[in-house]
Amino acid sequence: MKKILNFIDGSLMEPLGGQYFETEDPSIGKPYALVPDSDEHDLELAVKAAKKAFPHWHNMHAAERAGAMHKLADLIEENAADFARAECIDNGRPLSQCSAANIARGIANLHFFADAGQKFVGEQFKAGNIESYTIPQPIGVVATISPWNLPMLLFTWKFAPALAAGNCVIAKPSEITPMTAYMLSELVNDAGFPHGVFSVIHGKGAKIGAAITKHPDIPAISFTGGTVTGTEIYSTAAKQLKKVSLELGGKNPTVVFEDADIEAASAGAVAAAFSNQGEICLCGSRLLVHESIYEHFKVALLIKAAKIKIGDPLEADTQHGPMVSKAHMEKVLGYIDLAVKEGGQIIAGGKRHVVEGRCKDGYFIEPTVIEGLPQTCRTNQEEIFGPVATIQPFKTEEEAIALANSTEYGLAANIWTQDDARAKRVAAKIESGIVWVNCWNVRDLSTPFGGVKKSGVGREGGRRAMEFFTEEKTVSRLV
Ligand code: NAD
Repeated sequence: MKKILNFIDGSLMEPLGGQYFETEDPSIGKPYALVPDSDEHDLELAVKAAKKAFPHWHNMHAAERAGAMHKLADLIEENAADFARAECIDNGRPLSQCSAANIARGIANLHFFADAGQKFVGEQFKAGNIESYTIPQPIGVVATISPWNLPMLLFTWKFAPALAAGNCVIAKPSEITPMTAYMLSELVNDAGFPHGVFSVIHGKGAKIGAAITKHPDIPAISFTGGTVTGTEIYSTAAKQLKKVSLELGGKNPTVVFEDADIEAASAGAVAAAFSNQGEICLCGSRLLVHESIYEHFKVALLIKAAKIKIGDPLEADTQHGPMVSKAHMEKVLGYIDLAVKEGGQIIAGGKRHVVEGRCKDGYFIEPTVIEGLPQTCRTNQEEIFGPVATIQPFKTEEEAIALANSTEYGLAANIWTQDDARAKRVAAKIESGIVWVNCWNVRDLSTPFGGVKKSGVGREGGRRAMEFFTEEKTVSRLV
């Protein structure tokens, strides 16, 4: 079994306690690698190295820091096929999508923030005889904690701006999908990063994640993951007044108006509901459809959902792989049972799917659509994070907005209409950090990214991420 190592102070190393746990390949339902069960002693080493490295890294020219980041991106690109295969085995996302999305975006994140770091400067002000300017300065040692659903994409999305801003970073990837973070750590020295600037510590959230959160020498934490974990991190961090960025769960609506292009909207709704097996925080899991086109739209949706090719994620034509783990598969199947108990009718999928051959024990679930449920039921309120979407009709624009807003989450929405005025009106009224009009998950890395309500605190992306990872000093004088 392959053994994953921590990367601390420029060295790949075993966890000091010598403890490991297994991680599975979800497409075959078997363990395939050992993950360090790191503890506070490993963290202490990394913090010490980061504190030592900080003055040099911080004082390096932004272009030199960018050079190491671009180089790291190039090294990943040279090994992109290996990274994509590793991510596919670790996470279950089909290989073609790991390559085109997870790994390609990981590389793009590094290039993007390497450039953003060089352009990031303070502001100037003048009021009467007071002239002021600001200096954005790195915080010091910061930590990033990331989830399993888009491992490489979110791992890089979090640590790249922190490094670009001149911080030293301790990064903790998800214990469920640690492989590509490990592979990336193997390239860090070759990219030219000074030792200690960037450490990767593997392990369980409740142990090493919690140790990171309460460490007194880590004043800022950027977290992406579930709302329950985020709440815990927020409350622990508050006791030390740490800076925290929280990107959390979602229960996002796809709203289809009567004037929508039904072909485009149904294709978009299928992508929004089932991409990455529904394991994307941005997935549209509640389809709200105007009653006048409800049946027409539903037929178009079900035809497309039925065509999704479920199978071995390593095969080139597979579109839908396994859930990330047995526990997660069981959770999602439990929600499908709950939906039936709550009175829902399953109109597509609804079951575990068996893929013959190599993947016969894999954790596959069919793309599932459920109708006939009220908005208030648990199925329509709680994040399922699997290939499960509900569909409900609405009568008026006001009702659509009310339904869209009626959960405790507010991450993303996608709306489908050919009426620009309506698109603007509805986008302004939907309670979410992101609204897509006639598209889904179209990303410009410069734009703010984040959620409202229980979907998060703060914004990432572009300048917002650089601001999070810096403290702004104001210098004023009389002229
Ligand atoms: P999770 O909260 O279980 O774990 C996320 C990370 O936090 C992991 O690295 C885990 O080890 C760590 N962790 C767990 N407990 C911890 C603790 N007590 N202290 C510190 N760290 C701890 O989430 P997950 O199951 O890995 O990911 C799925 C969730 O992430 C979903 O809710 C999804 O919506 C959300 N997500 C949000 C976004 C976004 O941008 N808003 C993006 C992707 C995923």
